[in-house]
Amino acid sequence: MLRSIGKDAEGRGISALTRARIAARTIAARTIAVHRHIELMELLERSDEVQLGRHECKWPLADASRLRLRVEFGSIGIAMRAAVVRNFNEDLSIETVSDPACPDNGVVLEVAACGVCRSDYHGWVGKHPRIEDGSILGHEYCGTVVEAGPRAMHRIGDRLIAPFILGCGSCRACQTGVSNTCEHQIVPGFGWPGAYAEYVAAPFDHNLVHLPEKMTPALAAGLGCRVTTAWHALTDRADVKAGEWVAVHGTGGIGLAILLLAKMLGAQVVVVDVVEEKLAHARQHGADAAVNAAETDAAEAIREITGGGAQVSIEALGIEATTNASVDCLAVLGRHVHVGMPSGSGMLRVNMRAIYTKQLSFFGTRGMPAWKYSSLLGMIERGDVDISPMLAREITLSGASAELRAMSGPTPPGTAVITDLTR
Ligand SMILES: [Zn+2]
Ligand SMILES: [Zn+2]
Repeated sequence: MLRSIGKDAEGRGISALTRARIAARTIAARTIAVHRHIELMELLERSDEVQLGRHECKWPLADASRLRLRVEFGSIGIAMRAAVVRNFNEDLSIETVSDPACPDNGVVLEVAACGVCRSDYHGWVGKHPRIEDGSILGHEYCGTVVEAGPRAMHRIGDRLIAPFILGCGSCRACQTGVSNTCEHQIVPGFGWPGAYAEYVAAPFDHNLVHLPEKMTPALAAGLGCRVTTAWHALTDRADVKAGEWVAVHGTGGIGLAILLLAKMLGAQVVVVDVVEEKLAHARQHGADAAVNAAETDAAEAIREITGGGAQVSIEALGIEATTNASVDCLAVLGRHVHVGMPSGSGMLRVNMRAIYTKQLSFFGTRGMPAWKYSSLLGMIERGDVDISPMLAREITLSGASAELRAMSGPTPPGTAVITDLTR
């Protein structure tokens, strides 16, 4: 990506650095033959003004040359590497695609890290309505601003984290503090090019927050949708109080985040999974009890452990079995919070009699309003909660396919984060 063509220090043509960047990008793009590359270099040397696609430069350039440059090299320097969905259930295609255009009211980030999430898996298998041939996944990202639109509030060089839901900022939902329900929301990775790529465009950049200095991009991306969603589920929807029992069905990213944050809030936590390794991992990180749903009736076990049922139960998978286990494990007047995204049509058979007779509350929740980021990041920065167990491994862009493939079965604890976008 060319972001900084300009006169060199002496005011002569393009600098060696710029030439090197063009060369590097050209080679990376692999779309321009070598002789054309040399031609371009010569053209740039002669030119005083160059326009490469939308990247304006300051040298006056004869119209004919500029036109030729646009026609012949229009894509040079504005091509990035991305992992693209081509065929469902098959490896993502590593391709060179156009850089994202910078939104007027947003920024383009050079992606530093992007989490691989179970929501991506739903798209990868063709069960998300917004994922199709050509989609770029990736909604858990952080990076550095390389381009800012005229109405952006952040600047080039800012290191930012994005919530996955980008609220418009001007609708009723946004203005009443619930931007995660914004009707004009944009979610990169779902219907907007995501961050399984070298660059991602983020409109509505008022949603983005500065990455704390001591936090690595990998950990920040590892927060992903899961820690933010978990934080909102616990503090807003369930309104968890110290001493209450919180049951968590599914100890993937959301489940682990719920565990760490609920313990910080003073709750007692019982985790449920079918993978013994994940239960052991959860115990290591503070779970008061762990139930293997493959071996026992999870709801019954939880009612016994908690002495009559949990006050709060978090469903973190989006499937029928865990939804019913969650409803059934609750005490009278308990609160079920549905965090797992139901796949497909979303139709589930749920034990309504249990909801009725126990007079349960049944909450749906999705994401977190961006304004709550500061409280969450503050606690992490101060060391009130250690979220490092969320991050299991750092991977390459092409390694994302294997992570998605693995999600068709039980997965090991922790989240994979793409930190090497060059391979
Ligand atoms: Zn809005
Ligand atoms: Zn996610």
